[in-house]
Amino acid sequence: MRFASIGSGSEGNGLVVEAGATRILIDCGFGVRDTALRLARLGVAPDSLDAILVTHEHSDHVGGVPAFAAKHGIAVWLTFGTLTVVGERFAGMERVYGFDSHDAFAIGDLEVRPFPVPHDAREPVQFVVSDGAFRLGVLTDLGMSTPCVEQSLSGCDALVLETNHDLDLLAGSDYPYSLKQRISGRFGHLHNEASAALLAAIDTSRLQHLVAAHLSQQNNTPDRARAALAAVLSCAADWIGVADQADGFGWRALA
Ligand SMILES: [Zn+2]
Ligand SMILES: [Zn+2]
Repeated sequence: MRFASIGSGSEGNGLVVEAGATRILIDCGFGVRDTALRLARLGVAPDSLDAILVTHEHSDHVGGVPAFAAKHGIAVWLTFGTLTVVGERFAGMERVYGFDSHDAFAIGDLEVRPFPVPHDAREPVQFVVSDGAFRLGVLTDLGMSTPCVEQSLSGCDALVLETNHDLDLLAGSDYPYSLKQRISGRFGHLHNEASAALLAAIDTSRLQHLVAAHLSQQNNTPDRARAALAAVLSCAADWIGVADQADGFGWRALA
């Protein structure tokens, strides 16, 4: 099993996960041509994707999904709540599937286990994806951790974890007050220290990969995100990966 990112942040997200003959894309916030170019950097042909999974209806996650899925005939999976918000954009497409935020499902060789997160969307989820041997936990776009989140991510072999902002940088930024409140609120985004606290609360004994994701380009830096997480694991800061808005990150394998 291996995974890679085509980009991460408020301007667009996309994570490729592959096991055996199965390949999925989690979220797609980029345009059709841009997505194809980003996938090509990873050696992934669009029509080799078995499904696109959507975490929630914000445009940096679902914005590119309808056109890309339609063009390449790819199945799309969204929560029933997300479907109520963006279902019209998938009208006329055959393979669009709803799921409940607590119910696991299979796509080829991958088991997909969604779990709900507190975020300002209708029925937002994140995922643990497994090939039976290894578990990859994906967590971005949540305002705070919950017991359910921690239970879901405990014992994973790899984590892609939101470190959206640094509280001091956000407080000192020129963002309007209301936007600062939205980002740092319980239904907004996880700051570095909250992400570190989450990491400290779960079993990380099997962790082979940790990638900081969905960083704000204005209100965080890779160094700050890495430092916060490295302090919890007592590891070298550069062991921790950072998912970039422009480049995502390259393939990481679980073995
Ligand atoms: Zn987002
Ligand atoms: Zn969001």
